[in-house]
Amino acid sequence: MTATIIDGKAFAAQVRGQVAQHVTRLKDDHGITPGLAVVLVGADPASEVYVKSKGKMTKEVGMKSVEHRLADTTSEAELLTLIDTLNKDDTIHGILVQLPLPDHLNEDLVISAIDPAKDVDGFHISNVGLLGTGQKSMVPCTPLGCLMMLRDHHGTLSGMDAVVIGRSNIVGKPMAQLLLNDSCTVTVAHSRTKDLAAVVRRADIVIAAVGRPEMVPGDWIKPGATIIDVGINRLDAPERGEGKTRLVGDVDFDSCAKVAGAITPVPGGVGPMTIACLLANTVTACCRAHDLPEPE
Ligand code: NDP
Repeated sequence: MTATIIDGKAFAAQVRGQVAQHVTRLKDDHGITPGLAVVLVGADPASEVYVKSKGKMTKEVGMKSVEHRLADTTSEAELLTLIDTLNKDDTIHGILVQLPLPDHLNEDLVISAIDPAKDVDGFHISNVGLLGTGQKSMVPCTPLGCLMMLRDHHGTLSGMDAVVIGRSNIVGKPMAQLLLNDSCTVTVAHSRTKDLAAVVRRADIVIAAVGRPEMVPGDWIKPGATIIDVGINRLDAPERGEGKTRLVGDVDFDSCAKVAGAITPVPGGVGPMTIACLLANTVTACCRAHDLPEPE
């Protein structure tokens, strides 16, 4: 068997197209331009890349994009003052503080300072609680992108056995919650899980969010299962030339694609969907702020 490749890049382009249409309607019919503010503290190279591409795509869909780049010596008080200003700014509907923050800044404190209605990353404890109780919330972008791809591929997920490998607050836990809300039977695996291979072999849906290159081999996969690979790992690739690198996921793509029914590639799977969902969340936040119908 050869798995269907779930094309996250194409799906993300479609989602961004729908977001752009909604932005046009908000502007034309209501005179409102959704606005997203991204705050970057310090000069982490990976974060720089993410922030740049978030800003570019925000503008491409017609939204207002604001970037605040702060020195890595920025104090907690200065950062909290900026967040307070953005919370009060009516032209800003979404606020994203790029993580990780430098060590001297308390991430929990900073995230809890964001107005939950503008928390487009869905990390504020109010949104975590709302998601956990199945209520309307801001849903974290990466798990939301994974869910959209799964729903698009399967239609309903009800009754399926899902295994999420990884229990981080930004991917694993919200992913498990979303799958549970969609009536999957969910197992959350982590570094202390015994016999991970046997756990994964039960799954109709495998979500790998570990951060270990190609950790999941094809012989762990139940034939026909759907694999969503969240991992982004950069490996040296001397075969491509001196100093070159390549990106791989948390699953061994070649062996898994021989057994699975469907699989997301890395790159071109979950990554593009994450940014598309950030834009979609910003439009949702804008509609809620103005009491207007939300996108489907
Ligand atoms: P974290 O490091 O926060 O969490 C990793 C999780 O994997 C932990 O729960 C850990 O368990 C578990 N784990 C580690 N080793 C093993 C093991 N040998 N067996 C089973 N479980 C293990 O990572 P994130 O959740 O932030 O990210 C995961 C991956 O997803 C990374 O590669 C990251 O780059 C990528 N990512 C991709 C995004 C995208 O847009 N595509 C967005 C966000 C992340 P324990 O809790 O016990 O330590």
